[in-house]
Amino acid sequence: MATVTLDSPLSGIIGGKSAKALEKAFGMTTALGLLEHLPRRYSKRGELTPLTGLPVGEQVTVVAQVLDVQVRRMQRRPGQIVEARITDGVGTLTLTFFNQAFRAKDLRAGRQGIFAGKVSEYRGAYQLQHPDYEFFDADDEVPGGAQLEEAAAKAWAETPVPIYPATTQVASWTVQRAVEMVLDALSEVPDPLPHELVRSEGLLSLGAAFEAAHRPRNDSDWRQAQRSLKFREAFDLQLALLYRRRQQAAEPSTPRPPGALLERFDASLPFALTGDQVQVGSVIASELAEPHPMHRLLQGEVGSGKTLVALRAMLQVAESGGQSALLAPTEVLAAQHFRSVVETLGPELAAHLNPVLVTGRMPASERRRALLSLASGNARIAVGTHALMSDGVTFYDLGLTIVDEQHRFGVDQREALRQKGSQPHVLAMTATPIPRTVALTAFGDLETLTIRELPPGRQGIETFVVPEIEMPRRAARVWERAAEDIAAGRQVYVVCPAISGGAAPSLEEGEFAEAETTEMIAPGGAQPPKRPLANVTDTVAEMRAMPQFAGFRVEALTGNMPGPEKDRVMSEFAAGSIHVLVATTVIEVGVNVPNASIMIVRDADRFGVSQLHQLRGRVGRGQHAGLCLLMSVAEQGSIARERIEAVANTSDGFALAEIDLELRREGDILGTAQSGGRSTLKLLRVTHDGELIAHARELAGALLDTDPGLGAHPSLAAVIAREEQHLENLAKS
Ligand code: ADP
Ligand code: MG
Repeated sequence: MATVTLDSPLSGIIGGKSAKALEKAFGMTTALGLLEHLPRRYSKRGELTPLTGLPVGEQVTVVAQVLDVQVRRMQRRPGQIVEARITDGVGTLTLTFFNQAFRAKDLRAGRQGIFAGKVSEYRGAYQLQHPDYEFFDADDEVPGGAQLEEAAAKAWAETPVPIYPATTQVASWTVQRAVEMVLDALSEVPDPLPHELVRSEGLLSLGAAFEAAHRPRNDSDWRQAQRSLKFREAFDLQLALLYRRRQQAAEPSTPRPPGALLERFDASLPFALTGDQVQVGSVIASELAEPHPMHRLLQGEVGSGKTLVALRAMLQVAESGGQSALLAPTEVLAAQHFRSVVETLGPELAAHLNPVLVTGRMPASERRRALLSLASGNARIAVGTHALMSDGVTFYDLGLTIVDEQHRFGVDQREALRQKGSQPHVLAMTATPIPRTVALTAFGDLETLTIRELPPGRQGIETFVVPEIEMPRRAARVWERAAEDIAAGRQVYVVCPAISGGAAPSLEEGEFAEAETTEMIAPGGAQPPKRPLANVTDTVAEMRAMPQFAGFRVEALTGNMPGPEKDRVMSEFAAGSIHVLVATTVIEVGVNVPNASIMIVRDADRFGVSQLHQLRGRVGRGQHAGLCLLMSVAEQGSIARERIEAVANTSDGFALAEIDLELRREGDILGTAQSGGRSTLKLLRVTHDGELIAHARELAGALLDTDPGLGAHPSLAAVIAREEQHLENLAKS
């Protein structure tokens, strides 16, 4: 047999059929892929899994003992049913098999093993129908020998049994067998980490770590393995991020020093810059003037004046004839950014810089004209959607790319835009505050700038939770209050988690809000609403039928509407001729209508904490105080309710981001890739491993200081190549 390495295809080691099953279930194709599929937990043969509180509808794997078994005839149909009860010593769970009488012989009282199946409920009792199982004594005899017996039996009972993430097709023990075949076949595993690092960090070698994680002899084995593998994961990721950043920072780029255009603009501003704007602005100004590309992530609350900072950077770049491209996540936002850029520049500067809008939906002739002025260098500012990245778009001299709402764009998209210039400077902006560990993990190739201070004179926003079930009157009052504000000349937003009723929640283009929230609520123990999710279509109909809205215009805005239709609704709302805008999270970011005073969020518990904070940032932007009403059927004390209470009680977006981090499950933070059961981060948990991540980053930085090109560490260079793909996935979230 050929030497088996980490890169060997699984099919050659465990056989084509098993390899195919594993690939289908988990996406792995190589020995490494399988070895990185780590046990979810470890059980003991002597320690049974508690059988209470098993999640109905989910696949579970439990260690238990058969209590009793009985065979009876089915009542309505011919045939037999075998019912075995298994126990954890306290509770029981019923296993049922139809027309498989032979099971009764197999499932003898007292036998212990692993049972796997989907939990269902039948007449108030939990059961597994046609589960898979494997008894410990079947292939794992208690080792004999009279004098040794007691010690051996104890060891046998205490050896950790790895329980793997499994599917209905591939059981935990199937994974375990495959892993064992791979471990047995594997030749010595080379360790990509430098020897000194392995020693100074007290790590297991890579091969030993895999062995200890999959075939631990005791608890300390797998604990050590986890620590080692976790460190390796953090280190590999940080090394790749820092490497990429340093490579980019070393590229030559055209320096863009500030000049008269920026001065003229600053002089024309009707207000003074906030302290944070000045500070952040000066960092950007000096980095743009460097002969290397800037890579910065600018974060700050909605309305903190990021766009203004970005515009000042564009003016600096325009000084030397350079062009800037501002990339927005949706057509609505692109159009709005464009308008505000033109307005803020004022007529003279706008005529001089000739900003153009580029979206996928604009008329061909208009688009051609815009593209022409970008290619000729006549237009020095382009604002657009991802249409800006398409092949037909060329720039005369692209000096700066600005990506608004960074988390919606992956590294590869940012990259595609960068390719349109020769090493343009990059400024990414986000209104979603990002806790440091997340920033280091997901955006580690960008350095962060933060605006905390809001421009003066902002009216506050008051936020209240409206518990519809406990306080139905207060819920009714929401609509009256909205009508009163409209009568007083204000406008109202109503946000729903779904577009229309019946079907599953509809996702907006490029959005993961709904997917994310359903994911995070179920495991938190909250009940799903007892009615379908509030949706835009029904809400519009309901509001139009309410007498208090007679004579007011209530319109829908959702991501699936045609572009021109969306723009029409948005501009009519901006102009004040639409009074109530009922929308999905399409309005989450950036939309600016200062006359809007109330934000009503229906089924608010369906949204993330940070997302709710974004939403309420839509009101209280003008001279009128804002009011945000979070409607919910979540019960008091539930996690879902706790989350929205947190939003109501805290106005600090950074504090909320931290809360979000604590309350959300890991997979939700780093994106949607996890929802399929596959994780982009394997062992690392940004919620708990902040220190480890920071430590690994320091070590990775130190290593790159001594060996910037990794010439002396070819195996680490290979690791980086592998991590690149991983990074793409992380950043896409
Ligand atoms: P962001 O992009 O962070 O949401 P914007 O740059 O769009 O914020 O600013 C929001 C509003 O505040 C805009 O109308 C802008 O003109 C105004 N603004 C920005 N900076 C200041 C400032 N220093 N003082 C007063 N108003 C400001
Ligand atoms: Mg903005």
